[in-house]
Amino acid sequence: MPATAAALEDRLLELKSTVKRQAEDRPGVYRMVSEGGEVVYVGKSKRVRTRLMSYFRAAFPEEKGARIVREAAAIEWSYVPSEFAALLEELRLIKRLRPRFNHAMKRDARHYAFVAITRGPAPRLVVLRGTGARGESVVYGPFVGAQRLGESLRELSDSLGLRDCTHDRRMRYSDQQEMFIAPPRTPGCIRFEIGKCLGPCVAAPSAAAYREKVAQARAFLDGTNDGPIERLAGAMQEASDRLEFERAGALRDKRQRLEDLRDQFDRMRFAAESLTFAYPVDGIDGDHRVYLIRRGVVRAELPAPRSASESGHLQDAIRRVASDTPLTGPRSIPRHEVDELLVIAAWFKAHPAEMEKATPLSHY
Ligand code: SF4
Repeated sequence: MPATAAALEDRLLELKSTVKRQAEDRPGVYRMVSEGGEVVYVGKSKRVRTRLMSYFRAAFPEEKGARIVREAAAIEWSYVPSEFAALLEELRLIKRLRPRFNHAMKRDARHYAFVAITRGPAPRLVVLRGTGARGESVVYGPFVGAQRLGESLRELSDSLGLRDCTHDRRMRYSDQQEMFIAPPRTPGCIRFEIGKCLGPCVAAPSAAAYREKVAQARAFLDGTNDGPIERLAGAMQEASDRLEFERAGALRDKRQRLEDLRDQFDRMRFAAESLTFAYPVDGIDGDHRVYLIRRGVVRAELPAPRSASESGHLQDAIRRVASDTPLTGPRSIPRHEVDELLVIAAWFKAHPAEMEKATPLSHY
């Protein structure tokens, strides 16, 4: 056996022996730490010892567990009161430490799509994948089905005349004073020619006119203005009255795509709002906790009350959470909260009976 393989074998035996002697079967989180001190992987388990021992039983070297433990020079772990607490702690550690194996193996958030309104002089609507912030002004999601989402979003941009080009051509407006610079009269863009973009690249609209269309798009996404759907419905009716059935059919399909978009937003909002409650969790050794969850994110965590004064503290915290949590818009979820929302939604989906323990915040 080559020396490096023998050294690796020795190290794995030593790690295994440490886990066997010291780890306990309690809920907790663990960290795989490389020789250089880098945390390469963070995991959680209801039974830390059993979980850690499973890393040394991998049948094939290419298995995920075998690959992770081969990188580890040390394994650290700590205990928490419950599996739910372990889930939250794991998420916080992953966000803080960004271990490379977690990143490489993470699939959930990257499979979701988000809708964003970009910044800049001529904002546009875009579909994003993953949850990493990229400086957009408003982000909505998560959604599944990026392609369909993109088609619906295109319909919204078309109906309002918003640009959808990715190039960084300078945008300017008709009311922008610029001596010596005469913008071209046409951008050579089909969307402008057929009236689907107001043409901020050729100073066709005023800044206020374009801003107004962006505001209408935002109102539609926020669920406060169905104007684009109503306009398409009106145009469809007119086409139908004129016996232009082909055109009426095309307008019906466009309206349907916008309705799909609105329905997706309604479902997303409902999912976030339905994850708003106080969730009591029994912990080991009597360390019971109450988690105050609002819009899918834990806003406060308190010991389960055992006295009248502790009940008072809980009531105060519930009132604070119910009133203080900032909302960025009726239907938008702050980007930095999306990971936690996904993790908590997945927890209650996998453990539906847990939902029955939850009490709406409004019931306190
Ligand atoms: S008209 Fe200009 S701003 Fe609009 S989509 Fe085309 S290139 Fe972009």
